[in-house]
Amino acid sequence: MGIQKNVKSPMTKDLLMTYTFYALFFIAFLSYFIFGLQSLAVSLICVGVAILCDLLLAKVTGQGNRPSAAVFGLIVAMSYSLGLPEMMAMEQIPTLAGGLEQYLYPALITAVGLIVFKRIAGKAGRKYVNPAAIAKLLVLGLLFMPITSALSGYSALLPNDHTNSINLQNPLTPDAFGGPDFYPMDTAVFGSTLLTCYSNHGMDPYKMGTYENPLPDVLFTMLFAKFHGWIGGFSSLVVIVVGIALFLLARGYIKWRITVSFLVTTAIVAAVMGVVYGGDILLRVIFHVFMGSSIFMAFFMATDPATTPLTKMGQNIFGVGLAVLTVIIQTYTGFLGASILALVIMNVTCPILDRVGVPKPTEERKKIKLAKAQKFESAAVTDCIRCGKCMTVCCKNLPVILIKEAIDKGDWAKAEKLGVAYCDNCGHCSFVCPARIDLKNIIVSARDKIKKQ
Ligand code: SF4
Ligand code: SF4
Repeated sequence: MGIQKNVKSPMTKDLLMTYTFYALFFIAFLSYFIFGLQSLAVSLICVGVAILCDLLLAKVTGQGNRPSAAVFGLIVAMSYSLGLPEMMAMEQIPTLAGGLEQYLYPALITAVGLIVFKRIAGKAGRKYVNPAAIAKLLVLGLLFMPITSALSGYSALLPNDHTNSINLQNPLTPDAFGGPDFYPMDTAVFGSTLLTCYSNHGMDPYKMGTYENPLPDVLFTMLFAKFHGWIGGFSSLVVIVVGIALFLLARGYIKWRITVSFLVTTAIVAAVMGVVYGGDILLRVIFHVFMGSSIFMAFFMATDPATTPLTKMGQNIFGVGLAVLTVIIQTYTGFLGASILALVIMNVTCPILDRVGVPKPTEERKKIKLAKAQKFESAAVTDCIRCGKCMTVCCKNLPVILIKEAIDKGDWAKAEKLGVAYCDNCGHCSFVCPARIDLKNIIVSARDKIKKQ
């Protein structure tokens, strides 16, 4: 028995985009109370540049998507690092004279990311890497790092302070401040470094504890308010609360498994590194898990449906791989905020991870709980956003979107192998699809065609 054609689940691609925009906007708004007008300016510039690029592209190609562009602009802004507070201004990021670069860089990242890695890559069939992450790596890493290094001695992605004062291989590498006998990861020293970097320098960083026992102050700073690092990660608690609220609103459409496996594995690998290299293990774990780049990445970038695996197992492996790479790169290169590089590396593995843990079809009809239906007179069909929801509601446990992809490619043997013959016409897949793709009819037609052969 099929589901009525114009009755669908309330979730649409636009609604998902709207929820995400409000979640990011809320974080951007609150960041003003930590970073001041600078962070609002960066957010406005990124959203403005993204919408402008989208308008220009729409003029040329006839296609645009303003809400998606606005969300993209906010992602770029929230994953951008503002410089250290003035008190610790040994090194600003980025560090050319005048400070205008902090607006120019995110504007460029937005334009490159939106035009090249979002729209052009999308037109070519599929986005393989997170557009905001790859654009940031290219603009700051390849384009500007040599320039800023030559002019100021500092680099936009690998600031000297990161390797001078936080040596995660404690105490293997001689340190610029303390020499070979310096132990930068020991409780008092590491705690002091974290508070110097992240806490509000207008105030006494030790409000609750002491130099010898900085844990209460470090926990407070890393959880509530960091005055340095990714704008969007300024408060781990805000990100966690807003992120979970978004997951609940868009239940089943956001790949929360990646977030959970990433955060849990980050804590485990950081603890292992602590055992190997010594120093305060708990502070090390807190640092790796709650630094702005990790916490914002976990909830708002690592879950990007387009560039992450479809299967549950694939998503778990993705989160674990992302965490292992992040902690390893951070420990051995001093590139703090390495989750952005790890994300791009893991994105590339998605076509392989999509083949891991593909659901096996069942003869029996599974009972599926669906969302309350809503009537839509007309439904605009868009490209698949790779949310994977259709795979979780199939009463025959079919990997629906993978079957559809095989059918699109004319790969009938693969569609058969994935179990197209088991489809019993229930229509759940079409009902939940936020892109409003008529999955049921596509699958049923292919099933019948194969049966006739
Ligand atoms: S693929 Fe077939 S059985 Fe599975 S949800 Fe869609 S219509 Fe139902
Ligand atoms: S086809 Fe499946 S994966 Fe694609 S948008 Fe629809 S429900 Fe999500």
